[in-house]
Amino acid sequence: MTFESLGLAPALLRALVEQNYLTPTPIQLQAIPLAMAGHDLLGGAQTGTGKTAAFGLPLLNRLSKTTPVNGFRRPRALILVPTRELAVQVADSLRGYGKHVRLNVTTIFGGAGMSPQVEALRRGVDVLVATPGRLIDHMERGTAKLDEVQMLVLDEADRMLDMGFLPAMKRILAKLPKERQTLLFSATFESQIKALALEFMRNPQQVQVAANNTIADTIAHKAHPVDNGRKRELLVKILSDRHTDQVLVFGRTKHGCNRLAEQLEEAGLKAVAIHGNKSQAQRQKALRDFKTSKARILVATDVAARGLDIPSLPLVINFDLPMVAEDYVHRIGRTGRNGMTGEALSLVSADEAQLLRQIQRILKDDIQMVTVDGFEPLRPIRMGSDAAGARGANPRGPGGNNGARKPGHRPHGKPAPRHATGHAGPQSRGPGGRAAGGGNRGGGSRQGFSA
Ligand code: AMP
Repeated sequence: MTFESLGLAPALLRALVEQNYLTPTPIQLQAIPLAMAGHDLLGGAQTGTGKTAAFGLPLLNRLSKTTPVNGFRRPRALILVPTRELAVQVADSLRGYGKHVRLNVTTIFGGAGMSPQVEALRRGVDVLVATPGRLIDHMERGTAKLDEVQMLVLDEADRMLDMGFLPAMKRILAKLPKERQTLLFSATFESQIKALALEFMRNPQQVQVAANNTIADTIAHKAHPVDNGRKRELLVKILSDRHTDQVLVFGRTKHGCNRLAEQLEEAGLKAVAIHGNKSQAQRQKALRDFKTSKARILVATDVAARGLDIPSLPLVINFDLPMVAEDYVHRIGRTGRNGMTGEALSLVSADEAQLLRQIQRILKDDIQMVTVDGFEPLRPIRMGSDAAGARGANPRGPGGNNGARKPGHRPHGKPAPRHATGHAGPQSRGPGGRAAGGGNRGGGSRQGFSA
């Protein structure tokens, strides 16, 4: 199946060829024909699946075929997103796809000055990409008029709810014309999302490329037990041992991320931090530095990293485990994309054992525990007696099989979210051609881990 066969306007097809989009991804294949036929859509897909083009192409296609009323351009499409980073990213993608159609894509988000946004809205907008809070500000001031919106996209709807945007979303939705097409994309479909869909969508069609919490099976999961006070030292060792990889490191707090990036710099490793206390300009610079390899390491909090588009990241490190196990899934969604192999490494101290157990339950597969020589924890990690039970019919005790998944094994019996060809089995080769199951660079011992 090609993009041509989906019936997109030639100007959009030209831009796709220029961007080397040769074949549609699974979510694009499913969503584009339905959206082009005018249906409301519930899309189950996370970042990395190509969901932006899945809603962006039908949206641009539709808008490119109609001209604005009276020449004055009020937004005809509204895309709501949870974070400024995602707003910038979605707008960039849409500008790329819409390069040869005359449509204006504008972003508005908090943490940036109001005046340039007011000015941009005044000049005329076709597609508005906005975070809910700031959009409400503009609506209250009368600077954003939404009475001509024909298409609404809720992108990463689950994250918007997580971030407490439900009241703002409802206020916005209430102001939109009833006659419109609504596309909702979300990695998960909890009851709140379903309720939102019931209230604000018309007979939505459902498409899905990844089940809830499905994790690409091309990712090798490892955990290094280590005492809390020695995590930084171990991180420096890991990062120094691998000079080539671009690495995303997750920390729990804004302050902790800042300090860690500084400490990595002191150790001679080029690192930048990205989190909510940074200005928009600082965040964009940090992301640019990382993407252009000026900085090898990006240290981020969960919220700041959400939706960051960093293709083909070979390694994600959890310096701290996330407080919410589901965030582990979002974090590691930055690796193992598009059928490529990836590695998720977690530095785990004894007080994080419970969190590790919860993550293990979500993964429904083994995390390989690797103790690095010289970093054996004084406080060993005790996983408790419910450990084996949580893993059900796959009982491998400590010291047994290292817990690697078998090549081609699909943890949930569902297709993994991938669309590229030529992928190597997750455990047959690791990133950079290593055997993923044996990537024991620290020369330490391995044990099977189950929770
Ligand atoms: P998204 O999930 O929309 O953030 O997309 C993830 C990455 O895949 C982005 O870098 C896109 O540019 C890229 N991408 C999306 N669709 C395609 C496609 N059909 N062919 C190649 N790359 C794509």
